[in-house]
Amino acid sequence: MPDRTDPASPCRVDPSDVIDMHVHVGLCGDTEPMRFGHFSAEYRKTAAFKVFLKYAGIKAGELSDETIRRKTIEVIDQSRIGKVVCLALDHYFDSKTGDAEPCRSHMWVSNEYIADRLRSDPLVRDKILLGASVSPNDRGNFQRRVDECVREGAVLMKWLPSAQGINLADDHVRNAMVYLATAKPGARPLPLLLHTGSEYAIPTPTDQEWMVVLNYLSWSDSDARIHKRVLDRENLCVPDVARANSNIEAALNAGAVIIFAHCGTPYFTTNPNLEHSDFEIVKTYLARSANGEFRGKCYADISAFAIPFRRPFFDDLKKLPSHTLVYGSDFPVPVFELSAGPAEWFDDLWNIIKSGKLDRIVIPEGNLLDVSLSEMCRVFKGRPEVFTEFNGLIS
Ligand SMILES: [Zn+2]
Repeated sequence: MPDRTDPASPCRVDPSDVIDMHVHVGLCGDTEPMRFGHFSAEYRKTAAFKVFLKYAGIKAGELSDETIRRKTIEVIDQSRIGKVVCLALDHYFDSKTGDAEPCRSHMWVSNEYIADRLRSDPLVRDKILLGASVSPNDRGNFQRRVDECVREGAVLMKWLPSAQGINLADDHVRNAMVYLATAKPGARPLPLLLHTGSEYAIPTPTDQEWMVVLNYLSWSDSDARIHKRVLDRENLCVPDVARANSNIEAALNAGAVIIFAHCGTPYFTTNPNLEHSDFEIVKTYLARSANGEFRGKCYADISAFAIPFRRPFFDDLKKLPSHTLVYGSDFPVPVFELSAGPAEWFDDLWNIIKSGKLDRIVIPEGNLLDVSLSEMCRVFKGRPEVFTEFNGLIS
């Protein structure tokens, strides 16, 4: 019998040696929304937001910046994991003018909030690492702000293109990625955690639904069909993936480290006629990187994989080159105790969300950062390097 009390026993790694490199924090904005961040009123009404609140252990009636801060510190403090990377998410900037437009973002969290407010709590001071976020669309200030984050100890740079309006095909975005390749002292790279593929957690900026395709590194006829059906704005929906990929390669050739979030996999299905997938192109990047084709290096994270829908990918994940995967949970995205057996899974989370019957959601008992680690350790049994690979990137 596996030891269910030890979140990392199947892969023989000490949880205190593990860094969870993908943990989201948020703010509703009842204190200083223009300084620290907010959730928009529209976003708070969505099913996804309500699900995240449940997983974060926050009752809807108790939502406040102070409650979120307290609950975040509690889950990190009580986890057996050594360190967690708390992710900022810079707000929207107009990509042409560089103007700041935070009110168009449905969710944003400043670097300052994580560095000064969360990390200052004595309970978690030694556990929280800064996952910074600076939009490359903040054209005049990008380099200065990245330098500031590095001085604050940032261990990575997080971009979620669809939520931030970042078009990887833009020249100034390529220049920003190239800058990250040497942004740390000694001209070392600040790793870029790049969301890749489908996205359901954080909406696109107000009136910019088409931006969901900005996360895509590949584009197929079935993608065109899906997006015509869903968005009915076919012409606006075709991403310039050739240019986006050539910009990524330019950054990799300059020495950048790029971590493709979720391995680019879809969330709900493996059917390419129903949902976009970037898994194939991410696999190609990892293989090319493992072959030494770039001066920099590619990784992919295995965050948000402890769910039944992504189970069909497990065998393929295990075939990816060793030392290209890093561990993250994507807290507070749902985590399931897959190892407990099908009878205890949800029959269909998607149906629960669609029907709005969120009270049917059963949250696993125990610390959810530990549950996530425990489940992924079972998937990567005997592969401790997956859970400690990120440690080599923070020095
Ligand atoms: Zn995430």
